[in-house]
Amino acid sequence: MLDNIKRELRKKFKWSVDITNPLEIPQNIFNKFRNQYESSLTLEFLTKQFPDDHVVAITNSDLYTTGLNFIFGQAKIGKAMIVSTHRLAPTFYKDRGNEKLHQDRVLKECVHEIGHMFGLQHCKERGCIMSPSGTIKDIDNKSIEFCHMCELQLK
Ligand SMILES: [Zn+2]
Ligand SMILES: [Zn+2]
Repeated sequence: MLDNIKRELRKKFKWSVDITNPLEIPQNIFNKFRNQYESSLTLEFLTKQFPDDHVVAITNSDLYTTGLNFIFGQAKIGKAMIVSTHRLAPTFYKDRGNEKLHQDRVLKECVHEIGHMFGLQHCKERGCIMSPSGTIKDIDNKSIEFCHMCELQLK
């Protein structure tokens, strides 16, 4: 999955992308009552680990942030973003396992959060990757592309 994401991000953003060794999220960020990690604190942790880079973090742990039951991902402007693969797996919804669909969803969410990392807000254009990702259907229904306006802003 990581190799696939690395290749696609290189292509899409013309970046150099390095895969680091896996990192353990500190246990004090884990909420044992919810069985989830708090994502803002996780992003802070990541930016401390890699202060000079833009961090694209992918975790199989479930994430939440204050006021929300869960989040697919979150970004810290100019610094880092994180996506959880947990609720992007078809099996999470009792659907049949489908590695390709799972990877496509993770990649879409990465591109969406990268957009946020570079300051883009949610977009009303249907199909734009920056349209909100409230449910798994929202993610499946949008494309992986930025609409014209988002693309311009990104540039
Ligand atoms: Zn968003
Ligand atoms: Zn857009």
